[in-house]
Amino acid sequence: MVDDGWVLGIESTAHTFSFGLVDGEGKPYPSESSTISPAEGGIHPRKAAEHHAETAGELLARLLQREGLGKSNLSAIAFSQGPGLAPCLRAGASAARTLSTALAIPMIGVNHCVAHIEIGREQCGCDDPVLLYASGGNTQVITRLAGKYRVLGETLDIGIGNMLDKFARSNGIPFPGGPKVEQHALLWNEDSLDELSLPYVVQGMDLAFSGILTAATKATRNGTSFDAVCWSLQEHAFAACVEVAERALAHSGKTELLLGGGVACNERLREMCEIMCAERGAKSYAPPKMYCVDNGTMIARLGWLELGGGRVTSLVDSAIIPTLRTDDSEIIWA
Ligand code: AMP
Ligand code: MG
Repeated sequence: MVDDGWVLGIESTAHTFSFGLVDGEGKPYPSESSTISPAEGGIHPRKAAEHHAETAGELLARLLQREGLGKSNLSAIAFSQGPGLAPCLRAGASAARTLSTALAIPMIGVNHCVAHIEIGREQCGCDDPVLLYASGGNTQVITRLAGKYRVLGETLDIGIGNMLDKFARSNGIPFPGGPKVEQHALLWNEDSLDELSLPYVVQGMDLAFSGILTAATKATRNGTSFDAVCWSLQEHAFAACVEVAERALAHSGKTELLLGGGVACNERLREMCEIMCAERGAKSYAPPKMYCVDNGTMIARLGWLELGGGRVTSLVDSAIIPTLRTDDSEIIWA
């Protein structure tokens, strides 16, 4: 372990506030995170931001103590500059500005989506993957072309995780619903779509999930078994993602698929990606689950890469960018 050169990463794009670390050689250390889980309803951006501000101090203290570090060991602060919910992003950016100013160390604002790719590359040892980024708010198929990570396909409406969460919520399951949908899908033993076929929306390279959400919600209201709907919902929605990911591999000629985002924790999605890749001589990679969900460590890792390329963010340039796109950010590292 090296004593200095640590980069602290701050993640705050939506429901989760998280601090993570990489050491001077870019090696990741697990994050300390807190996720808001409202008893009912969805994530309210302002309440999430309040949660972030309230939990920040304790999370940072816990992380530094766990690694036997003090603030003086930190050499830079990385934070999620976008995309995300504005009040939530602001909480993270304020923490970054405060720490950077108080400790007189540089800060670096990074692209949250790109951070998912970079932690996955580091963890899985893959080099030039197509990323299937399946999270709460985002669903994109991304790959590196001509100095940027380009979006080859994406959802035209809601993110796949958001769809799973809303479906679960309409059945009385609080956020995050995705893991519960996975558990209930496993309880359904029939391996056939006869019970319930749902809308399957792939338009070229793009996806959409609001239609399947409405149909699945209606089906449970009409008395179809909840387990059956969970199973069918996963089969349809994941197959659509895997179809687009496969076409991205075919078009780009790449041979590595990488999963990222909270929905990438799902074992069935992982399995479907492995089957598709095996069939076409490609390889599917999935990072440990703690690095699939939003986490501060991935922000620290991308910050470390960007700092290594000579980039820093000045105070005047540190405003949040809620609509930041994956392909807005130039790649200045290997
Ligand atoms: P993120 O936005 O990347 O932090 O991921 C959060 C999203 O991942 C939420 O929508 C969760 O419901 C979803 N999620 C987490 N674990 C699973 C799982 N095992 N299966 C499906 N979705 C999941
Ligand atoms: Mg995310």
